[in-house]
Amino acid sequence: MKIICIGRNYTEHIAELSNEKPENPVIFLKPDSAILLKNNPFVIPAFSNDVHYEVEVLVKISRLGKHIDKKFAHKYYEEIGLGIDFTARDLQSKLKEKGLPWEKAKAFDGSAVISNFISKEDHDINNTAFQLYKNDSLVQNGNTSNMLWKVDEIIAYVSQFFTLKIGDVIFTGTPAGVGKVLTNDILIGKLSDKAMFKIKVK
Ligand code: ZN
Repeated sequence: MKIICIGRNYTEHIAELSNEKPENPVIFLKPDSAILLKNNPFVIPAFSNDVHYEVEVLVKISRLGKHIDKKFAHKYYEEIGLGIDFTARDLQSKLKEKGLPWEKAKAFDGSAVISNFISKEDHDINNTAFQLYKNDSLVQNGNTSNMLWKVDEIIAYVSQFFTLKIGDVIFTGTPAGVGKVLTNDILIGKLSDKAMFKIKVK
């Protein structure tokens, strides 16, 4: 399986990193080796002094497809989840400055937290609240209604470039409030008030 991530999909997060609003979705990939195994802590990698959390709504692809029309995109996923796109922000800033690919900063081992998935039927994918708590403080408070590109638009766009396969996971972008993690932090993610993951940082 592959992990497809969307960058700059919430206006307030674009502003907090002083990025430009893109004309098209920003896409990058993570390999399956980036998945943080269940019940494992997240270990801050030695190559970064500024790893950020980014909480994101996830969509799991349930049907093979390419060049998917936006109006049929909803048929390609049945379940949603919540995750963290851990980012070595210091390294990413250097790579961005030089116009280089982001993988070292975004796709390293453990950088993809993926919760269990829940049926999309009980949720309006275009109006679902989600939060990240760090040590019991609310640090990110998002709602998918604020996405620049909605899930069905993302699927249509991404599938022009990449065949979507069963089991692929899309990270749909992070809202404002990203920040640094420190050893012993506890990160708890909630989707529609349901706790989806609890991660300890080491
Ligand atoms: Zn992200």
